[in-house]
Amino acid sequence: MRLFLFLPIQGSLLVLTSFLNNSLEFIKGAGTVKAELLAAELGIRTVGDMLEHYPFRYVDRSQIMTLADLRSLNDFGQVRGILGPLREEGTNVKKRLRGSFTDSTGSIELIWFKGVKWMKENLLPGNEYMLYGKVTNFMSNLNVVHPELERIIDSRIPQGYLQPIYSTTEKLTKRGLSSKGIEKIIENIISRPELAVEETLPDYLRESLVLVPKKKAIIDIHRPKSQADINQASRRLKFEELFYIQLELLLKKELRSKQVSGFTFENVGDYFNTFYEKHLPFELTNAQKRVLREVRRDMKSGTQMNRLLQGDVGSGKTIVAALAALIAIDNGFQACIMAPTEILAGQHYQTISELLGEMNIKIDLLTGSVKTKRRREIDEACTSGELHILIGTHALLEDKVTFKNLGLAIIDEQHRFGVAQRAKLWKKNTRPPHILVMTATPIPRTLSMTLYGDLDVSVIDELPPGRKDVQTMHVKDNARLRIFGFMEDQIRRGRQIYVVYPLIEESKVLDLKDLMDGYESIARRFPTPKYQISIVHGRMKPADKDFEMNRFVKGETQIMVATTVIEVGVNVPNASVMIIESAQRFGLSQLHQLRGRVGRGAEQSYCVLATDVKLSSEARLRMKTMCETNDGFRIAEVDLNLRGPGDLMGTQQSGIVGLKLADLVTDVKVLQYARNTVMDILEEDPNLKLEKHLPVRKKAIDIMKNKPNWSRIS
Ligand code: ADP
Ligand code: MG
Repeated sequence: MRLFLFLPIQGSLLVLTSFLNNSLEFIKGAGTVKAELLAAELGIRTVGDMLEHYPFRYVDRSQIMTLADLRSLNDFGQVRGILGPLREEGTNVKKRLRGSFTDSTGSIELIWFKGVKWMKENLLPGNEYMLYGKVTNFMSNLNVVHPELERIIDSRIPQGYLQPIYSTTEKLTKRGLSSKGIEKIIENIISRPELAVEETLPDYLRESLVLVPKKKAIIDIHRPKSQADINQASRRLKFEELFYIQLELLLKKELRSKQVSGFTFENVGDYFNTFYEKHLPFELTNAQKRVLREVRRDMKSGTQMNRLLQGDVGSGKTIVAALAALIAIDNGFQACIMAPTEILAGQHYQTISELLGEMNIKIDLLTGSVKTKRRREIDEACTSGELHILIGTHALLEDKVTFKNLGLAIIDEQHRFGVAQRAKLWKKNTRPPHILVMTATPIPRTLSMTLYGDLDVSVIDELPPGRKDVQTMHVKDNARLRIFGFMEDQIRRGRQIYVVYPLIEESKVLDLKDLMDGYESIARRFPTPKYQISIVHGRMKPADKDFEMNRFVKGETQIMVATTVIEVGVNVPNASVMIIESAQRFGLSQLHQLRGRVGRGAEQSYCVLATDVKLSSEARLRMKTMCETNDGFRIAEVDLNLRGPGDLMGTQQSGIVGLKLADLVTDVKVLQYARNTVMDILEEDPNLKLEKHLPVRKKAIDIMKNKPNWSRIS
């Protein structure tokens, strides 16, 4: 990969780009002051930067409607009419400007809260204007807030003009760089004869993907003549944007795989085959089979596996982990499985011990609460190689835990562990073991391709057969009696119930009080000895927690009142009702995780979301989404839409906020295409030496230059 860094870049390419590298101040309409302001406000410094400031929407200036139409449209539209007198109201701080606008179908009020002075000085009441805006209902008055107004002179209306709308800031607007001002600067750049836009994608690729040339795309995105122009231009530019992000990620991955060699697991031997043929308790789903093939391929490739396995709650990741461990054992290696909580580690230990019960394999469990003497036994068995699989919490990471020959490390719920903790697992053998990280936190494909683009991603996108969707309902707190009635009915049918309270770190005391109050009112309604209730929260000693948990697992208690400690991994198939209190305080992904605790048995399961009576519109959408779908990926997408990628777990450091045109939610297909294309190219021409890949190689050199520390990032 380093090779081509030393190869000279052809001079002509540099000449071509020089106009784009020019400072903006030399462009008509910009000038020094505006150029400085553009740099400060939007980070736009060069002509090239300006051209990459793409419009975020277009106004069709050929469509003119009446005010009556605009009123019923509930969207932005354009109306031609007369501007009425303007009236300034309020004090200095809370100044506003009102006006009116009239056409043959009636009048409407206009209102400005910002830019009052500028509007007042520049608008000319009594004249004909083209208004662009949306009718809103403000303080029970219909009006248009902050309309765009353009004066019509000589009755001349530009025909068929798709006006680009650019994002700008208040400061820029005050300096004349409203969207319109930016449009003018860009016009001036585009009409310059020396405008040369270098092609950044190989010709053969553009032809096969039917993408317009870069120069045409740039011109069309700013000055489209038709909707088709916009579509083609944005398709081309989005592809390019995503293509180069993927190139960066995949180069990084390649670099790592060259520098870190891995163990080669050539054999699929007795352990795997015997288990697969004789003891597999169910037929694997197609998705599980596919993932297993992907894992096997990695493990015998000679490079270290770094694979993320995504699968919704209940999709069956554990069996995949167990089978992968068997391959390691078949090749004379040990495996470890690390889980974030004692409860979860314990459950893995139990499940996997049962699965592999007939296999003569030695498995043990190591957590913080294992006593010193047992601990020493485990350490010894691990170091001598007698132990095949060690399951545990982060206790596994401690330096005294050494393996004879660790070949595979599996991490469940990887987002609960930091990068540093994962790195410790790497050091458990002279050569790093293969790494399989598993997560039930669904991340939309687009996001995982960008976030984890340097890992290989496998997805179990299919649930085992026979699962019934959990029925979800949203009830307000004032329906408490109905909820109790429902609980009673379910218990009479032999079911068990979870009641979960939110836990927020900052207010532990308050949360505990909520939980205790809830517990008391449930205990009054469901008294002993007829009913038994378990309670589990983060302040209890682990031993007490386990005791309470076990009573519920064994069916001795009917109701489990808990904080979110039960969120991860607990498996009680007879529990078929999940009641989530103050559900508005949970994010979508957490609600989905909690709901995943039920629906594991043969019975119809239910999830009740109890919320405050009054809800924000966002909370309402969360509840609605939960009631409408059980699909974790669908939910993750809504979540992404609501919160934006910046707020999703781990995305802060990922540097993907800089997307200019592509949208991680709506451009999934383009992204997938871009990624596949990059993979094909790197496969055919890993050093990008072929003539036809010159543009790609040039960009790769740029990328490498800016990322000197890549090889040290894991
Ligand atoms: P998760 O992906 O949430 O870790 P688990 O591995 O705990 O899911 O599996 C959930 C349940 O589904 C377990 O009871 C497991 O035995 C069962 N299961 C897994 N795979 C299959 C399958 N192919 N057919 C039937 N049941 C399965
Ligand atoms: Mg699991």
